[in-house]
Amino acid sequence: MSFIETRGNDGVNPSEVEFSDAILNPSASFGGLWVPKNIPTIDEDFIVNHLDKSYKELAFDILKLFDLDIDDETINQALNLYDRFDDPTNPSPVVKIKDDLFVNEQYHGPTRAFKDMALQPFGSILSSLAKKRDEKYLILAATSGDTGPAALNTFKNKDGIKVVCLYPNGGTSDVQRLQMVTEDGKNLKVIGINGNFDDAQNALKTLLSSQKFKDELEKDGIKLSAANSVNFGRIIFQIVYHFQSYLELLRQNEIKLSQEIYIDVPSGNFGNVLGAFYAQKMGLPIKKLLVSSNINNILTQWLTTGKYDIRDKELILTSSPAMDILKSSNIERVIYHLFGSSRTKELMLSLNQNKYFEHTKEELELLKEYFSATFSDDSYGLKTIKKFVDEGYLMDPHTATCIKGYEELRDDKTIKTVIYSTAQWTKFSPTVLNAINENNTKYKDKEALKLISDKLNIDIPQQISELFAKDILHNDIIDIENLEDKIISFLQGK
Ligand SMILES: *Cc1c(COP(=O)(O)O)cnc(C)c1O
Repeated sequence: MSFIETRGNDGVNPSEVEFSDAILNPSASFGGLWVPKNIPTIDEDFIVNHLDKSYKELAFDILKLFDLDIDDETINQALNLYDRFDDPTNPSPVVKIKDDLFVNEQYHGPTRAFKDMALQPFGSILSSLAKKRDEKYLILAATSGDTGPAALNTFKNKDGIKVVCLYPNGGTSDVQRLQMVTEDGKNLKVIGINGNFDDAQNALKTLLSSQKFKDELEKDGIKLSAANSVNFGRIIFQIVYHFQSYLELLRQNEIKLSQEIYIDVPSGNFGNVLGAFYAQKMGLPIKKLLVSSNINNILTQWLTTGKYDIRDKELILTSSPAMDILKSSNIERVIYHLFGSSRTKELMLSLNQNKYFEHTKEELELLKEYFSATFSDDSYGLKTIKKFVDEGYLMDPHTATCIKGYEELRDDKTIKTVIYSTAQWTKFSPTVLNAINENNTKYKDKEALKLISDKLNIDIPQQISELFAKDILHNDIIDIENLEDKIISFLQGK
């Protein structure tokens, strides 16, 4: 399968590449992204045939549909990383919490957030490719708190790969920060920047498209790649678990074959729900994709008014920080698949230059056939966490945003909904404790973890509890203008 560019070709980049090139060099012409040229489709037999298959087998078969230039052994080796999850046969279990409401728990991997679902196998494929080609790579990751730990975990001590991870100083939870700054592995560098996640992501995009920076790296024989969901190598693994949601509802006798479901995803950079968009395009019976976000409600504005307008918007820090974002990268892929490359280029350049674009009425109508969107604020999140804890289900603040989507966006109340739990409560324990205790005391993560664990009689996973005893290995907090120099000196071993 070939991959092509969302903004068309500039005559310098190759206009079509294979999967391996798209993931090793994720930046496409005019600052665009790589997308599959054709989206494969499935029939009902595909669903039936996977009812008694494992998650790994499902993932293998979906990857095969995309006809990637990756050999079976490399794919299997990557999928074996699901062995690091709580239950290797079922890395993202689907749990019933109401008659018509289910949770796909995506946080059972090593860093307790959904990013592991894709980054574990993606890291393995990327490092196998680098090794086979005998090439050295610098992987850049900008994180709002969950991508960073997951990327560091997957690439740690991999030959030929170095990782620089940027996080917004003060923008993550203690646990998230500790997961990064205590990570050893001589090929890793973690840098706090003075700025927010959008600043970190912009800095990353600037470096990825800077010829000067690439030339500088080239002197040391190093190529540049990215671990954010701008990289299609992550998106492909994020298609699989939406199929798993559907299969699980069938297995649990909650739906009949070909019956539709709602998929309700807490969204920021739009990579998770993009996976569901591809699943739907491939033929999975999804009634609608419900996009839930926080008070930084840019996605709701986009999908309800057809305008993407960040001219007067300031990023607001919330208790669901992984969704604190104004420039959502993966909407570009949706726009491409629905409206083509010249329109995508036009809209994206307008967003870059004017911080604004607007769809036509017809375009908006088409978007609305796929997506509905809503948002909620922190106080809604706290109340929701409390309500569900009282009913016996503990969720994190990101997951809680989906309840708003479930309550507001279903046109057909007979259809069942799967929401996505993207992080374990342990990553955001102070907020969760505020919800449970209905107060606004400023707890430390360590204290909140213990209080919740005692109160609800649940375990703290070792991956989290051990963090507090580890040494801090990465102390850099810098201004963005010093980033390039900092990275170069890390690469030169200074
Ligand atoms: C990354 C993340 C999200 C947002 O996912 P996108 O794919 O960027 O939309 C939501 N919740 C958590 C906990 C995350 O880590």
